[in-house]
Amino acid sequence: MDKNSVYGRTNAIIKKYDVRPTKRFGQNFLVDENILRGIITASGITKDDLVLEIGPGIGNLTSVLCENSREVCAVEIDKKLIPVLEESLKEYGNLTIINGDILKTDISALVNEKNGGNPLKVVANLPYYITTPIIMGLLTTKAPIKSLTVMVQKEVADRMISLPGKKTYGALSLAVQYYAEAENVLDVPPSSFIPNPKVSSAVMHLKVREKPPVQTKDEAFMFAVIRASFNQRRKTLVNGLKNASLPGCTGEAVPEALNKLGMSPTIRGEQLSLEEFARLADLLKL
Ligand code: SAM
Repeated sequence: MDKNSVYGRTNAIIKKYDVRPTKRFGQNFLVDENILRGIITASGITKDDLVLEIGPGIGNLTSVLCENSREVCAVEIDKKLIPVLEESLKEYGNLTIINGDILKTDISALVNEKNGGNPLKVVANLPYYITTPIIMGLLTTKAPIKSLTVMVQKEVADRMISLPGKKTYGALSLAVQYYAEAENVLDVPPSSFIPNPKVSSAVMHLKVREKPPVQTKDEAFMFAVIRASFNQRRKTLVNGLKNASLPGCTGEAVPEALNKLGMSPTIRGEQLSLEEFARLADLLKL
C-alpha cells in the first residue's frame, strides 16, 4: 500500500458509503502510508499479539493491524461506520468489530475471552475530544495492558512527557510517568488526515510499567492531591489543596507537611516531582 492507495481507498469508501466524517466523534481518517507504517513499528506488535483498536473509523489502520497481529478487536462508537467496516474489511478473519463506547467497554472481559487473560496491546488514532479520559481510563484500569501506541494532539503529547517547572506539566504528565514509560515517536502534520485537523499530532508509545517508579501509601489519595494541586494553577499548592477539601489537607496540615519536606509554603504544584508528590501525600494521609 503506498500513500496514494490509502488516500484512494479513503476517498473511494467515503464516496461509496456517503461517509460524512463527523466532528462530534472526532473523525479524522489517517491517509499517510508512512505514518501507518510508523505506528506499526512503534507498537512492536507481532503475530502473537491481541490488539485493541479504539475508533477504527473506516479501517485504514485496522487493515494494517490485522496484517501484523494475531487478532484485532476494534471498538467503534459510530454505528453508521459498522457496515462500512464489516464490508470493506471482510477479508480479515482475525478481526472482531464491536459497536460501542470505549469508555464503557469491559477490557478485562475482552482479555479473558480473547487472550486467556494475557495482556493486550492498544493501538489507536484517538478521537481528540476525549483523548485524556481514554488514556487515563486505560492507564488506571485493572485490565492487563502491555502498551499503548496512540495518535494524540501534539499539545497532549507534550503534556504527557512534560517535566516539573514547564507550562505543560500537570496531572496528566504525573499519571503517565507513574503508570508508563512514555516516548514521542513521530510528529504528524494535519495533511496526513482526511479531513485535515486544525492541530498537529504525534504518535506516543507508552510501555505500561509492571511496578510504579515511586511508592505511596494510597495511590488514589496521591492522585487526588495531585489533581487538587493543579486545579487552580495560579494559586499556591496550599490554597489549591485547602479549596479541594480533601481529608487531612487543612490550612495547617499542608504547610506543616511542606515544611517537613523542606519546601516553601508558597510553592506551586508545577514545581513538585512525582517522588515529592508521593512524599507529600504520605505525610498528609490520615
Ligand atoms: N482509526 C481511524 C483512522 O486512523 O483513520 C479513525 C480515527 S478517528 C481520529 C477517531 C475514531 O474514533 C472515529 O472513527 C470515531 O468515530 C471513533 N470514536 C469516537 N469516540 C469514540 C468512543 N468513545 N469509543 C469508540 N470509538 C470512538
